[in-house]
Amino acid sequence: MNFVQERKRMVEEQLIPRGIKDSLVLAAFRKVPRERFIPREHWYETYGDFPLPIGEEQTISQPYIVALMTENLKLKGEERVLEIGTGSGYQTAIIAEIVKEIYTVERIVSLAQRAKKTLEELGYTNVETKIGDGTEGWEKFSPYDAIMVTAAAARVPESLLKQLAINGRLIIPIGNLYSQELILYQKKKRGLKTTNYGGCRFVPLKGKEGWR
Ligand code: SAM
Repeated sequence: MNFVQERKRMVEEQLIPRGIKDSLVLAAFRKVPRERFIPREHWYETYGDFPLPIGEEQTISQPYIVALMTENLKLKGEERVLEIGTGSGYQTAIIAEIVKEIYTVERIVSLAQRAKKTLEELGYTNVETKIGDGTEGWEKFSPYDAIMVTAAAARVPESLLKQLAINGRLIIPIGNLYSQELILYQKKKRGLKTTNYGGCRFVPLKGKEGWR
C-alpha cells in the first residue's frame, strides 16, 4: 500500500472535483496520515470514498464530508475550535493542522483514549481531549470561534450555541436517526443565520441535549 500516493489521489479525485478549494483545508488533507486513525484490518481501504468502522459501532466519516464540514467553518488559523465527537481523531487532526487550538470531546472512553494517543504520537500540541457528554459543550475554554459536531442531532444543543462566540460558526448534522442535513449556524448579535449544505448520514449524538 502506497499511502502517500493514495492520499494525493484522494485529494485530486474526491475533494477538488466536488468543489473543495480552501488551500488550508487541502493542505491539511495532503498531510494528515488517515491510515493512523483506521483499524489495521481496514487499511486496504483507508483512502476510499466512504466512511469506515472504528469500533464501538462508530465510524470515521467519508473524507469529502470531513472536508466539506471543515471548509464551511471558514477557518483562517487563529481560531479556537470545539469539536464534539472525537471518534478516531482524524477530523481533530485536520482542524489542528489549520487552527491555533482545538478542544475535542468524546463520550466513549476507549475511542477517546485511542484518539488521544494517536494525536500525541503524531505530535499535535494544540489539541485538548476530554471524555464526557459533548452536548453540554466544554464551558471552561468557551467562547469558541467555531464548533463542529460530528454526530447527528434532532436540534442544535443550546449549550453549544451559548458557547459559540458572536460571529462564530457551528456546523452540525440535523435530522432524524436515519438521515440528516448538514446545517451551518452563524451567530450574529441579533439571532442566528442558517445555511443548509445538503443531505448526510451520521451516527447519533447521544446525551443530555441529544438522543437519549
Ligand atoms: N470525527 C470523527 C473522526 O474523524 O473519526 C468521527 C466521529 S463519529 C461519526 C461520531 C462520534 O461522536 C462517535 O465517536 C460517538 O461516540 C461520538 N458521540 C456521540 N454522542 C456524543 C456526545 N454526546 N459527546 C461526545 N461524543 C459523542
